[in-house]
Amino acid sequence: MRRLPVIAETPLPPLYDAWMREALGAALSPEPESTCSDCAMVAPPDQVGGHGFDPHAKCCTHLPFLPNFLVGRILADEAAGAAHRHGRASVRARIREGIAVSPIGLHAPGPRVMAERVAHEHGEFGRVRSLVCPHFIDRRGGLCGIWEHRNATCTTFFCKHSRGARGDRLWRAIELLLKRVEAALSRHCLMALDFPVEAFARALARHDPPEGDPSRGAELAPDPERHRQLWGAWEGREEALYLACAELVAPLGWSEVLRIGGVEVEARARIARHLLAGMDPREAPEALRAGVFTGVEVGPERTRVATYSRLDPLDLPNALVGALGRFDGRSTRAVVREIAREDGLALDDELIAQLLDFEILVEADTPRRG
Ligand code: SF4
Ligand code: SF4
Repeated sequence: MRRLPVIAETPLPPLYDAWMREALGAALSPEPESTCSDCAMVAPPDQVGGHGFDPHAKCCTHLPFLPNFLVGRILADEAAGAAHRHGRASVRARIREGIAVSPIGLHAPGPRVMAERVAHEHGEFGRVRSLVCPHFIDRRGGLCGIWEHRNATCTTFFCKHSRGARGDRLWRAIELLLKRVEAALSRHCLMALDFPVEAFARALARHDPPEGDPSRGAELAPDPERHRQLWGAWEGREEALYLACAELVAPLGWSEVLRIGGVEVEARARIARHLLAGMDPREAPEALRAGVFTGVEVGPERTRVATYSRLDPLDLPNALVGALGRFDGRSTRAVVREIAREDGLALDDELIAQLLDFEILVEADTPRRG
């Protein structure tokens, strides 16, 4: 999912950036290893269909849920560039198409969610062109037409993390936090606008949980009767409702978002803050053991290993891979000395920190992953 060619100072869209700075007490760092305009996952042309992503799809083989207030922000954004025009047009096309168009937002229809899931399960993520997002622009390395207003999922997905599993955990926590925010605010807008209660109840019954549950029935084609029931007196004025939601949300500060989102949002924010604090460098733990990892590719000198994600492997010297088994819960210092003596390898603090970030080494008392 993503990206404009310039790596922004903040990895978040403006609305979410302001909230997260306040919620977390710090700005989030970009993930420079996810080189989106020159996608890090795209394989050389002769390998497309092999291991890498398709350059005409990248990770944007996803139809994002857009909460009502983000739909309104996209429509209200009058920026003149071609990417913005594409963004507005593609959102209008989803509204016109009328499938899974709800007062809560633009949902991914159940069959679409299932198709994405099947692609993931078969290792086809990033390679199925028929699943490319309608907001994706296939030029200049692949752009996003709604970049400044993308949702929680698109905002927080990175194929690679500078801090490995630690970074992945932080971004997943922020995704869950922003999803809660999106759910709370999209409902708050409808209540603030005094949306007809019967239509509101139908929208909630159909679209809770917010991220399109495939078991909620197929939506393969527009259903005018269902649409009429979902929209009540607002039928035919869908864009006007989305714009009104955007206006309601625009002035909200984090304290108001917290008040509206309640304990769920507060709890998610607390978890994200905790994980962010854990990103600070610290001394290597007293005792370490080797984590669980998979050898993806073994070469004469280096082995490619994957731990938390097959999208983000590390290349390690074979000698180091062989020495990792020495970390068996004994004192870290003693094992580092042993490896220097027996294997001729000098493991400095920086390397140990990276191995910890990627869970190639874990604290000795960490429960084992299956
Ligand atoms: S909304 Fe943008 S970032 Fe998200 S999948 Fe679509 S093109 Fe990619
Ligand atoms: S696959 Fe990674 S590098 Fe490529 S566009 Fe997606 S996040 Fe960016």
